Amino acid sequence: MSDNCLFCKIINGELPSTPVYTDEHVIVIWDINPKEPVHLLIIPREHIISLNEVEEKHDHLMAHIMLLLPKLAHEQGLDKGFRTVINTGSGGGQEVFHLHVHLLGGF
Ligand code: AMP
Ligand code: ZN
Repeated sequence: MSDNCLFCKIINGELPSTPVYTDEHVIVIWDINPKEPVHLLIIPREHIISLNEVEEKHDHLMAHIMLLLPKLAHEQGLDKGFRTVINTGSGGGQEVFHLHVHLLGGF
């Protein structure tokens, strides 16, 4: 938990959200400003700032997210395929500094 982190507040229930999926490792929500018909955010419960801060100890979490992505895509009907995006750092277009993976598709 990090003070003033938007995604930590969503995870802790301080801000309302309607998760499409949750488990002990992640929460999955709709992006508030979808860029494609399906635009989900897979957010680890642990406050990790970005991919730059991922360490060996996060290997299980990162594998978990990778394995979850095609399952979520299938649930959303993205049978023709999907895109995944991880923006890292201000130079990478990251706006919310709590690691998350974008899952996009449906065009
Ligand atoms: P990034 O640029 O990778 O940090 O992406 C942050 C994403 O979070 C953007 O696509 C925003 O539209 C999205 N976002 C910001 N605030 C919220 C929110 N309250 N609920 C859901 N998505 C949000
Ligand atoms: Zn956070």
